[in-house]
Amino acid sequence: MFDLDKIIRENIKKLKPYSSARDEFKGKEGTFLDANENSFGSPLNSPFEGGRPKDGGMYNRYPDPLQLDVKEKLSKIKGLPIQNIFLGNGSDEAIDILFRAFCNPGIDNVIICPPTYGMYEVSANINDVNIIKIPLTPEEFQLDTENILKAINPNTKLIFICCPNNPTGNGVKWSSIKTILENFSGLVIIDEAYINFAGYRSLIPELLNYPNLVILQTLSKAWGLAGLRIGMAFASEPIIDIFNKIKPPYNINSASQQLVLEALDNTDKVNEWIKEIVEERNLMSKELSQLPFIIRVYPSEANFLLIKIKEPQALYNYLVSKQIIIRDRSNMELCEGCLRITIGTKEENRLLIETLKQYK
Ligand SMILES: *Cc1c(COP(=O)(O)O)cnc(C)c1O
Repeated sequence: MFDLDKIIRENIKKLKPYSSARDEFKGKEGTFLDANENSFGSPLNSPFEGGRPKDGGMYNRYPDPLQLDVKEKLSKIKGLPIQNIFLGNGSDEAIDILFRAFCNPGIDNVIICPPTYGMYEVSANINDVNIIKIPLTPEEFQLDTENILKAINPNTKLIFICCPNNPTGNGVKWSSIKTILENFSGLVIIDEAYINFAGYRSLIPELLNYPNLVILQTLSKAWGLAGLRIGMAFASEPIIDIFNKIKPPYNINSASQQLVLEALDNTDKVNEWIKEIVEERNLMSKELSQLPFIIRVYPSEANFLLIKIKEPQALYNYLVSKQIIIRDRSNMELCEGCLRITIGTKEENRLLIETLKQYK
């Protein structure tokens, strides 16, 4: 049923991508007079050594457009061939590329399930793509599969599902995702930004079963690298080829590539942190539940908790006055009275609880 050729935009299908100097000659040794760089060096690297940047270390040279060294390491960590990996300037770049590759402005539409991550809607609006909203079920925050399937029309190109979901924190049932994958001939995008904190596994193995599946992950959350701006998309090779065809040629800068290579060697540290954050989350969930003014602490598979109270703004302002900043989500659909709290360090979490105990 799924045919990539049928959902890709005509202009993208016909597009002849920009060919960079780095695409034409890929060798790492030589005298490079092909890209109008400053051959003398950069004010950053000394002593100057000629040649091509092996790991993005020489800032006078353009970076590797396909980030092959980084992908090689990620490939081992994720158990996925390099051809199935795209790297973007944050997941936000991958989201934007999906709209530009598959959605004809003013004609096509996408389905999102609020309350959810805000960038799907912003990116749709920037690209002048219609949005069909099928809210999650109230309180349980699960997919309304029946209404999602009913809402699909011939111009529906993408369905965004965030799992674990932001800002609710819960995962959505695999059976619902599976039903949608099997009954939709466009792309189903599963945003796994918080997967490292969840009690279940990534859907990466399902890429072999579903050619219309795209999985998004990021180094911004569990990996602790929000400042480097590295997002990942995993999908079939033909889909990844489309991503690479339309991305800016040098979308991940040399410094980020070099630093990520270093960071990916510290998986032990990251795994320790994840364990600690999950323990703290579960503890915080209990402690918050005991505060009299908190109506509900929602179950979470992420590194944050959503709480419901009577007067969210008053509590938000009280915490700001104590220089503790949380996120007011009370204006979002189905989130009346809700605030989102990121799990901090042990000390930060204790400070939050002590401050909350003094409220009112
Ligand atoms: C934080 C977050 C991202 C990450 O975006 P980056 O651009 O990679 O920093 C993606 N999706 C969701 C749902 C998020 O909450």
